[in-house]
Amino acid sequence: MLFSQVKGQKNLIVKIKSIIDNNHFPHAVLLSGNDGYGNLAIALATAQYISCTSRTDTDSCSQCPSCHKYGKLVHPDLHFIFPTTTTKKIDKNNESSLFIKEFRQFISEHGAYCNLNQWYNFIGTENKQGIINVKDADNIISTLTMKTYESEFKVMIIWNADKMNHEASDKILKILEEPYPNTFFILTTEHKDRIIPTILSRVQQITVPPLDNQTMYKEIKNYNPSLTDEQISSLVVLCEGNYNRIGEYYSDEEMQMRNDFIEMNRLAMMYRKNAKEIWDFTDTLSKSSREEIKKFLSYFLSKIEKCYLFNNVPSSIHPLVGMDDKFKNNYPRFITSSNVEGICKIIDQVQKSIDRNANLKITVFDMIIKLGKQLEKR
Ligand SMILES: [Zn+2]
Repeated sequence: MLFSQVKGQKNLIVKIKSIIDNNHFPHAVLLSGNDGYGNLAIALATAQYISCTSRTDTDSCSQCPSCHKYGKLVHPDLHFIFPTTTTKKIDKNNESSLFIKEFRQFISEHGAYCNLNQWYNFIGTENKQGIINVKDADNIISTLTMKTYESEFKVMIIWNADKMNHEASDKILKILEEPYPNTFFILTTEHKDRIIPTILSRVQQITVPPLDNQTMYKEIKNYNPSLTDEQISSLVVLCEGNYNRIGEYYSDEEMQMRNDFIEMNRLAMMYRKNAKEIWDFTDTLSKSSREEIKKFLSYFLSKIEKCYLFNNVPSSIHPLVGMDDKFKNNYPRFITSSNVEGICKIIDQVQKSIDRNANLKITVFDMIIKLGKQLEKR
């Protein structure tokens, strides 16, 4: 990855580049920020620049043998450690080295702006959380004692380093305490507070800030050229400098939840004469898993709050991006101080019922009727 392929972050790149140019790059750095700000992208571009044999004034050359291999993430002196768990394929002794092929494929498909959930889905963890375990730490040690293959430098990227378990943290700390020559560690994390202080004290901490508005504007426009300037500006605010959130607003899941939200409200408003239609809708929705329905309810709750805000504080930032004009003109006015609390309470109760294994179909049907009654109170 080239620095020019990193989205935004110009100031940070200038800073990193100049440290490398002056041969002052520390043996271990921690890039801390959201993956959607570019943690991994910056780690990859930095590693490639360190190893490039014909750097230009501004970037890696992209032409030398090292850059070629970095481009495919197959340079023998570039190493990755990342969270793993047992999967159908690897049912015990999970460690990064067993997943390296999948990891390369994952990054080539998702790009460097990927996140842990996508990775877990990619390898099929079935809701298990990944960790970086002591075997990964042992592998680091054996890798470091080997000679470099092709480059003058070895680079070890530890993606989502906060996932190190206790044992791995202790071992990796020892490694960081005794720097190996010509070896650079680039750790990334979204949760710096979950990394033990002794490790933090051994790395140079670099904060990766949210993407600037201008970059976000450009990226959103690229993503969906049909949006108006006003819509893009609203999305810039909502995405909070996080590139990954642009996609979330257009993901299939988001679209589905948006449609279900609109449909559920339409049915609720007509609950007195529409029992059959409500029952059919409930039938379809209740085929989702409990987790999916809970996620939908959280979405529902957040949209209700946004409708209330939209209705009462017109000057607030546009909180209903993605909803069509028909919805915006008709629905938010039904959410008022007379019913917003009641509606939130209903959703809260439904969430609790689902946790208690209540019958999904009856629970959701009941929710729509109660919602209808609240909407009448406006
Ligand atoms: Zn190069």
